[in-house]
Amino acid sequence: MLSIGNRRSTIGNLLLAYLLAASSLAAASLYDQSVSRLLAERYGSSDLSYIVIDAATRRLIASRWEAITEPVPVGSLVKPFLALAYAQKRDFRYPVYFCHGAQDGCWLPRGHGPMDISSAIAYSCNAYFMNMVSTLKPEDVDSMAQRYGFSLGQAPSGAAQMIGLGGAWRIDPQELLHAYVLLAAAPRAAGTAELLRGMALSAQKGTAGAVGLTLHGAAVLAKTGTAPCVHQPLAPGDGYVLMLFPADQPRLALLVRVHGVPGARAAELGGRMLNSVISLQ
Ligand SMILES: [Zn+2]
Repeated sequence: MLSIGNRRSTIGNLLLAYLLAASSLAAASLYDQSVSRLLAERYGSSDLSYIVIDAATRRLIASRWEAITEPVPVGSLVKPFLALAYAQKRDFRYPVYFCHGAQDGCWLPRGHGPMDISSAIAYSCNAYFMNMVSTLKPEDVDSMAQRYGFSLGQAPSGAAQMIGLGGAWRIDPQELLHAYVLLAAAPRAAGTAELLRGMALSAQKGTAGAVGLTLHGAAVLAKTGTAPCVHQPLAPGDGYVLMLFPADQPRLALLVRVHGVPGARAAELGGRMLNSVISLQ
């Protein structure tokens, strides 16, 4: 049985815990408000959609995204997860493929040459991933997606559709952010280090190179995607960039979509937005 003194200190501790929780909640909401305000002021263009979450708690910090719960085509942002779906049955070993460029269906006409998984992620090599998914079964994709908490719907047919071209895969944008957060939170999980290295390389000198430039070399993880436009009037495509900062134990996760540009261009704007958000910390 508790003595009165103990009971008092228990109540005191509860009160203290409550006050601490309340004050950190208040601090979080003040922070969220300043991020929201800053982004709304500096990045008001209607061509721009964004979602910013706290990577540690998954709290939504700020967003401007029409129909935020509606799945959207995200192009190559699906590639790291297809790699996991492939590797889970192969002891998490990734192959090396040679990209000849246009003749292999890659976006880079002259080709990327020999690609391992990290460089294929960094440069978003289509040839690498089309090769990789040629043996992928829909149930492999399903079990991977389940593990990372998102749904992809029915698997498209054909390698080009499978790697995210043509917008066949559609993902809830917040679920996608959470999946990337989960990936980065367990860097030692089998098959993960190679993917995270690819995302770091992407931000340094790959398709998301603009992000690294804007952050003056601060370590960040990034991946770009280009997908069919979801707006009216219709553009040839929408560019996406997903960023996790800092690269080690990310605190922030941002998804940015820019109407009418490829993913590499979205990375320019995304990098500036991330830089603005970091400046508030
Ligand atoms: Zn290539």
